[in-house]
Amino acid sequence: MDKKAPITIDLSKCPPCTGQICIGVCPQGALEEGKNRKPQIIEVIQCTKCGVCVNLCPTKAITINPSKPQK
Ligand code: SF4
Ligand code: SF4
Repeated sequence: MDKKAPITIDLSKCPPCTGQICIGVCPQGALEEGKNRKPQIIEVIQCTKCGVCVNLCPTKAITINPSKPQK
């Protein structure tokens, strides 16, 4: 995963759900359908870490990354 990515999607926890909730709810259009219908980040810069996808994912597959730079 790109260190600059604002969020982490644990694809092992993503079935994906019916309707791919995270892709639909992102107000920034930062997510799209990727491999095996699972979400992937397309617009890293667009993500505002609003947390909507994190909160609405039924399997808690998405987490927000810390904003501090990686060591
Ligand atoms: S945290 Fe918000 S802006 Fe970022 S991908 Fe999730 S819904 Fe979109
Ligand atoms: S909301 Fe969660 S389970 Fe549904 S597609 Fe997104 S990451 Fe996968």
